[in-house]
Parts: sequence; structure tokens; C-alpha cells
Amino acid sequence: MQATEAIIRDVVQEVLAQMRGPSTPMRQGASSPVSPARGYRGRFGIFTCVDEAVAAATEAFEQLSERPIADRKRAIDHIRRISIENCVELGTMEMEETKIGRLVHKIEKLKTLGERTPGVEFLRSEVFSGDHGLAVIEHAPFGVIGCITPVTHSLPTITGNAVSMIAGGNTLVVNPHPSGKRVAVEGVRRFNEAIHRDLGIDNLICLIAEPTLESAGAIFGHRGVKLICVTGGPAVARAAMHSGKRAVVAGPGNPPVVVDETADLDRAARSIIQGGAYDNNLLCIAEKEVFVVGKVFDAMLTAMDRAGAARLNAREVDALTRVAITKVGEGDHKHDAPAKEYLGQDAAVLARGIGKQVPREVELLFGETDESNPFVPVEQMMPFVPFVRCRDVDDAIAKAKHYEHGFRHTSIIHSTNVRNMTKMGRAMDTTLFVKNGPCMAALGLGGEGYLSFSIATPTGEGVTTPLTFTRERRCSMIDELRILGKA
Ligand code: NAD
Repeated sequence: MQATEAIIRDVVQEVLAQMRGPSTPMRQGASSPVSPARGYRGRFGIFTCVDEAVAAATEAFEQLSERPIADRKRAIDHIRRISIENCVELGTMEMEETKIGRLVHKIEKLKTLGERTPGVEFLRSEVFSGDHGLAVIEHAPFGVIGCITPVTHSLPTITGNAVSMIAGGNTLVVNPHPSGKRVAVEGVRRFNEAIHRDLGIDNLICLIAEPTLESAGAIFGHRGVKLICVTGGPAVARAAMHSGKRAVVAGPGNPPVVVDETADLDRAARSIIQGGAYDNNLLCIAEKEVFVVGKVFDAMLTAMDRAGAARLNAREVDALTRVAITKVGEGDHKHDAPAKEYLGQDAAVLARGIGKQVPREVELLFGETDESNPFVPVEQMMPFVPFVRCRDVDDAIAKAKHYEHGFRHTSIIHSTNVRNMTKMGRAMDTTLFVKNGPCMAALGLGGEGYLSFSIATPTGEGVTTPLTFTRERRCSMIDELRILGKA
């Protein structure tokens, strides 16, 4: 970590020296985003100025555009290798810096993203062949993509975005969350160094080392940035959609779970613990509140006990609500939110906060609440999950829909009744809909499909892939090159 701070210090010194000295590279104003000078080699992606970062990423884009797809794969292979080989060191750094989540999952997330993020193999072309010749549709890069990343997965989101975006032929300028900036600097520097050493291209991933809301705004407004991809909560999702640029928005969620009377309750309990406790409930797809039909409500709570979660009684739930949920905002915008001291903390820490001891191995707390408890509507991002007793499956689905807030992000059902599954799937209209598994099964981790940590919800691209970050281009040959039929 000290090494990372030293790098930031060196970069800041270097930039200040350049600004003072006669050899200052031409500062790129918003109206001239393309650098005339190849002056950014050796920066390994670390910048304090948005204009310079965009100029360097533009230069890198021009160089990448001259290379074959095989070179994109080589660049990505370095990102994958570093994410996998350095997962313990970088995961530990992320944990120490952000102080939220669980170390084992910080490490696992980097390894998994390195191994499984879709790369160039996801690129494809489409062909229309007919009496009038051929039309080929190819998927071209946008250019420089401006990325905003969350504190919940700082380097993992950058890793996944970088693999997908470079596979599509793009380069990146990233504004990380300020509370995850040091690990972001360290990871990005390592990625760029390795790519530069092998391919001679630097700055495929540029990072603002001292990110602020102003630097995010400068990225949104920069003419050299051709597309925005934000991963975060409601404020940044809104800001991106009002930026005037095309935006891929991976917004917030509050995933509800429905359990009906036909469910395998032990399987449901194991799944809720696996998904809801992962990284202390920081995943945007994680189980956040559970609606159980009255007929099996008590049996479901007993199944949670059996699976190893720790039950809070009504008094304990009230006490936890008082300490772990707080009011933020002013006037009309005042609302409940998770308290910083508890966000992403271990179940044992939450329990200690209300004077309760739970064994170290307990991953998740749970308890009965009614729907007026703030843990139901709030995206709590901490390992306590409220269970709400419902009249029947229709009541449970209606409540699930209400408390998902129309984010259309993720919802989950445990049931063996296909009608109930269908009914809920139709009603929720969420990007991810999981049946009989933990949330991460929807990302190919225990289920089918593929992985991304940027799941575009309000803008509709879904689980992002390299193709998300490409533009369609059509090339038409009139009356020739179709080899079927008579000459
Ligand atoms: P956050 O919204 O506080 O911050 C996310 C990023 O946006 C940070 O880099 C932050 O500095 C920036 N930001 C915040 N307000 C901004 C504004 N007005 N203008 C420009 N930038 C702004 O979120 P967080 O706590 O870092 O992450 C958790 C949130 O992200 C949760 O709501 C979670 O559901 C969501 N998330 C969604 C996905 C997805 O794929 N859909 C993935 C991960 C996290």
C-alpha cells in the first residue's frame, strides 16, 4: 500500500513539474481531445488530469486500432494473469483500503473475473446472404470509454470493464470511487506495465488517481469520451443518464426473494446464505429481503437456523435497525440508508453492535420483520436479511415487486411450481431472475451463462459483454459474392 501511495505522489510531483517546466505537454482542452504528441508513454495509466488521461487513452486507442484482434487478446491475457496471480495481494489491498466486505471474497472476485470475464471470443459478425449479394455486420469499437466504478468492487469492476472493453477494441478512462482509489492505481499500473512490456502500447486503461465528483463530471462532458459506463448507486446512475452522452448504466438493486409453499426450504436457506452473505451482502445482485408464504414461514426460519444463519428476535431486530439504518439527505430527499459503521461489516460486528455474541463462522443474521421495517426497502449492503410473512404467493410477489422499486435489476424465487415462477418472472420484469439458487448462479457461478460486474439495468444492455461496448457497422456487396444459385 505504501508503494501505491508513493506512485500517486510521484505522479502528482511529475505532473506539477511538467506544469512548471518548459517541456509541458500540450494540455488537451475539451475541444481538442486528440493528443498531437506521443507524450504519455511510461505513465502506465496513472493521471491526475482528465484531459491528459483522455488524450493518453485516445493515443492508445489509435495504436490498438492498428493491431489485430490477436493483440487485444494478448493485452487481455495480461489483465487476466495479473488478476489471477496477484489476487491475494491485490484482494488484501482492496480489503485494507475499503474496509468493507470479506477478504476471502475480495480475493475470489479478482480470480473469478480474471478467469471468466468474456473476452474476444464473444465478438462475432452477422451475414445476410441473398439474391442481391452480401451484407456483413461487424462490431466496431466506440473509442475511449469513460468508466465510473463503485467502492463495493473497486479493482474487480475495473478488471471486468477493461477485459470487455479492450476485447471490443476500446480504451478506458476510469474515475474510481475515492475510497477504492489506491488499489485501483496499483492494479491499473500493473496491467499497463505488463501490456506495454509485451505489446509496446501504454495507457489502454487510464485512471484518475485523485478522483472527485468534478473529475467524474469532466469525463462525462469530455468530447474525447465516446461512451460512458457507470457502475454504482442512484445518484451516479441519474448523473450518467443526464450527461448528454450515450451511457451504459449498471445501477442499484434491492433484490427480493420469494419462497412459496412448494419450495425445497433447506436448499432455499443455503442459497439465501450463500448469496446474501457473499462479501457481506455488497453484491448488487445479493438477496436483500425475503417474502415467505405464511404456510411455510416458520419452517423456513427453522431451515435458516439449520443452515447456520443466526436468528435475531424482535427486540434484537429493532435494536439493529436503530443502529444500522440512518437518515440521510435533507427535506424531501431525506431517506433511510445503511449506516457507514455497519455497511459491509461481518455478521459478528452487526451482532456486537446490539450486544449479542454469535460464533465467528456465522455469515448471515436474519429475523422476522414486517414490511414497514427499513431493512425491507433499503439496499442495506450488510449481512442482515429481513424475512416478511405473506398471505400467499400473490401477496409475496406483489410485495417483492413493490420493494424492488422498479430498478428491474434482480429477483429470486424458491419454488417447484412452474406457474408461480412464471407469474413472478412476468411481474418482476427484472434483468436477472433466478429460480432455486443463490443470486450469483445467474452470472454463471453455479448456473449457466457468463459473468460481468457491470449489469446494465435502466439502460437495458443486461450483463455486459464485449459486444455491449461496440457499434454496428454494415458492409454491403451488391449482387456479388453470394456463391449459391445460378451464375
Ligand atoms: P455510489 O453510487 O456511492 O458510487 C459509485 C461511483 O459513482 C463512485 O465512483 C462515486 O464516486 C461515483 N458517484 C457518485 N455520485 C456521483 C455523481 N453524482 N456524479 C458522478 N459520479 C458519482 O455506489 P457504491 O457505494 O460505490 O456502490 C454500491 C452501489 O452500486 C449499489 O447501489 C449497487 O447496487 C450498485 N452496483 C451496481 C452494479 C450493477 O452491475 N448494476 C454493480 C455493482 C454495484
